Amino acid sequence: MKKIVVIGGGISGLSAAVLLAEKNYEVTLIESSPKLGGRAYSFYHPKINSIIDNGQHLMMGCYTNTLSFLSKIDSADLIEIQKNMSVCFVKKNESEFNLAVSNIFYPINLLFAILKFNAISLKSRLKIVDLFLELCFCWTCDIKEYSVVQWLIEKKQTREAIQSFWEIICFGTLNTSIDRASASIFAEVLKKIFLDGNDSTKFIIPKVGLSELYVEKCKEKLKKKNNIINTSEKVLVFEYSNSSLIRVITDKNTYSEFDHVISSIPSHQLIKIFKNSKIPTKCLPELKYSPILNAFIWLSKNPFTKKFYGLIDSKIHWIFNHGEYISLTISAAEELILLTNDEIFEILYSELEIFFSIFKKELVTNSIIIKEKRATFISDSESTAKRENIKSPFNNLILSGDWTNTGLPSTIEGAVQSAMTAVDCVS
Ligand SMILES: Cc1cc2nc3c(=O)[nH]c(=O)nc-3n(C[C@H](O)[C@H](O)[C@H](O)COP(=O)(O)OP(=O)(O)OC[C@H]3O[C@@H](n4cnc5c(N)ncnc54)[C@H](O)[C@@H]3O)c2cc1C
Repeated sequence: MKKIVVIGGGISGLSAAVLLAEKNYEVTLIESSPKLGGRAYSFYHPKINSIIDNGQHLMMGCYTNTLSFLSKIDSADLIEIQKNMSVCFVKKNESEFNLAVSNIFYPINLLFAILKFNAISLKSRLKIVDLFLELCFCWTCDIKEYSVVQWLIEKKQTREAIQSFWEIICFGTLNTSIDRASASIFAEVLKKIFLDGNDSTKFIIPKVGLSELYVEKCKEKLKKKNNIINTSEKVLVFEYSNSSLIRVITDKNTYSEFDHVISSIPSHQLIKIFKNSKIPTKCLPELKYSPILNAFIWLSKNPFTKKFYGLIDSKIHWIFNHGEYISLTISAAEELILLTNDEIFEILYSELEIFFSIFKKELVTNSIIIKEKRATFISDSESTAKRENIKSPFNNLILSGDWTNTGLPSTIEGAVQSAMTAVDCVS
């Protein structure tokens, strides 16, 4: 029976470990933090005596690898998949506009949905439709050097279409602003969401906390097969001979009995291990990261009726309605995270009051801010090029993680897909 060491207990490491355990490999999972889940987890917050996520995670129907993994770990019932894609967008002074797709006549239904989206002028809508039609014939390698905004301008998108439509999608999918984001990866994402059938366009929201959705189920599966999970244990050094790893040294143990090692830690962490081990790091990309800020707000009376809202031309990108509380997501929040929590809430409350007259600061009974500084890597042209050149220097070290060359941005789907590829390399 092959023995595999998996380093990192985020979504990628957990997925790899479970998939390997299913194939009856002997897995040892090593995670530096006391908790599993990496950048997607839930925790108990004493201030509100309740469990919350480290930030709302949205998935989409095009997350096919994630969906099949969730079924494998018996979590398929713990997510809510929209019947049809439908998003309520809100403009200043509470005008609401639905971007809703009917479930028949794909792909014409998408074009109709855009044509009916009267948050923006007809001219802008027609331009957006034009670009969707062109997308079918768009070779993303031709736009590798372009930023999203350069590409949109070249495609004659109006300023309004860029600001009130494309920018929201870009923040939501790449957590990167349109002037930095890579046009080629953005176009790939658009193709995956919109050109792959109706199901791909649907939004998916977990019904439970992220840890209940992924971590607990993965733990169950691993323990059932007697695999080892070592948390609070950090990998520090690799020892190698010729082109093979021979030892993985942590702050607690030394592992030498393995056939393969799957590294599922972010590239900047792996670079540290390589440096400690005097291994050249050229084969690993140094990526830049983008923060996400989530604000959780409890209200004495929740006046919001929709499950979630997208805000047009606002500092707040998304609002999620959890009943007892709402959560606000601000992507690429470089400037906001530098402010104090009080300053941030001032900005967010006044923004909410402008967009929703139903919201009053006085309704707030409790609030929490979570700043994730390295939420995702920045999906720019530089990172896309660097990710194409990733190569493990050892024949028994396999790299996984959302940052590997998946062709996807920094997402759960990228993490799961990379784990599946890594497991295929072992088998
Ligand atoms: C606030 C927020 C919101 C997000 N929203 C979305 C969303 O809506 N949709 C979406 O698809 N994605 C979203 N993402 C991105 C998504 O969470 C990540 O892409 C995904 O979780 C990455 O998983 P991973 O396993 O590749 O890496 P990670 O989650 O980073 O896991 C790596 C693990 O390795 C461990 N580790 C590091 N160094 C060592 C070491 N030396 N030894 C042992 N262990 C080590 C870390 O502790 C960590 O647990 C969001 C992320 C954040 C933070």
